[in-house]
Amino acid sequence: MAALVTLVKNRYREEPSFDETLAGHPGFPRLVALKIDVQRRGVSYTDRAQAAVDPAIHQLRSPYIFGSRDGAIKPLPESLLLRDGTTILTDPTPLEQDPYIVDYLDGEFVLVDNGEVREAVELWSKPAYYGKFTSSGQPMSHIVSARPQRLNVFQSSFCYFWAEDKGCKFCDIVTHTKQQREELGVPNRLRPEDVRETVTEALKESGRFTSLCFTAGSVIKGDTLFDREVDFYVELLQAIGEIFRTKKFPSQLIGSAFNEKQLTRLYEETGLSSYTSDLEVLDEEQFNWLCPGKAKWVGYKEWRERLVRAVDIFGRGNVGTGLVSGIELARPHGFSSEKDALSATLSEAEYLAERGVTTVYIVWVPRPGSALRGQKAPSLDYFIRLAQGLQDLRVKYKLRVDFDDYRRCGNHPDSDLARLQ
Ligand code: SF4
Repeated sequence: MAALVTLVKNRYREEPSFDETLAGHPGFPRLVALKIDVQRRGVSYTDRAQAAVDPAIHQLRSPYIFGSRDGAIKPLPESLLLRDGTTILTDPTPLEQDPYIVDYLDGEFVLVDNGEVREAVELWSKPAYYGKFTSSGQPMSHIVSARPQRLNVFQSSFCYFWAEDKGCKFCDIVTHTKQQREELGVPNRLRPEDVRETVTEALKESGRFTSLCFTAGSVIKGDTLFDREVDFYVELLQAIGEIFRTKKFPSQLIGSAFNEKQLTRLYEETGLSSYTSDLEVLDEEQFNWLCPGKAKWVGYKEWRERLVRAVDIFGRGNVGTGLVSGIELARPHGFSSEKDALSATLSEAEYLAERGVTTVYIVWVPRPGSALRGQKAPSLDYFIRLAQGLQDLRVKYKLRVDFDDYRRCGNHPDSDLARLQ
């Protein structure tokens, strides 16, 4: 059957099949490549699969900082799990965009492409705290969401760059926030007390969660740029810190590019153990076009140097940046070839790696609530090369990525490779 599948060209795409692409990368793990391809194309659940989803035992999608590819909020599975433990965080996607199909056959969920079953998949188990409520009456699944072994806290779902009409062009945070508020009643900003109660409850599930991640939109207010954003995080991290007996606890903050004083405050006044600030794209011209808010208030080079300076405070291997990989090829100002985009990205990632900053990527999804809606992500070949290139840099510069790996986050194909090398 596999031989037959390699001959089947995708009916909807002018591009090589999955197997043809993978044949060009014999050392690359097949299941990580499959994760990338599913993230790139999204999924659609058959009626049979939807009927087999059991809300009592499966983790369904909870409020998220970004919206989904079909622009809808539906009670569908949060993610898929492959047989080697690789997770696939992916979006429900309209059929006309040629997603993978999730079906339910012979008692198991399966991923189907071009009519062929590619892999069996499992759904994540529903965390024990989902379905419980905080003392203020909020559903705990609206306050803290679960990744494989991590608790995600989206402290606020508003970004001030949008207020100035300078939101990142791939981002739909404000569009999605409005939709979540209207359809689910999710608050714009979390109360630290609700978060503390929820994390306390979640940690009662023995052995499941090993770290926490905090993120939100950028807050440009304060005496110094981002002071208010730092205030919010300090308040929240201190509330969470009351749960732990040690000063530091395994955690990641994905925030704006803070200055040294702000970073020192976060490090010294809270239990935070790692810091990430997303450059999103590793090229100054692309950054100026795609991230106009970040470009206006901080600038590419200063954002990059703030990451480097954060290494002095948080230590090597505890500072990272994230890319929305694929936007560097978006129309009309992106690179015109995948080769040039890859070379520029890896060159900048090496600059950062040399200085102790690790780079991870997520696969760009052209969401309908973003300015880049309707565009198409690059090829699977491109994403495979980028994943391998970023992991090779981590090996070369002896950088760890424990705080953002397959167990903690599960959303970065490149850091999935960290368990294999
Ligand atoms: S900084 Fe950019 S990506 Fe992040 S929330 Fe704001 S607009 Fe979206």
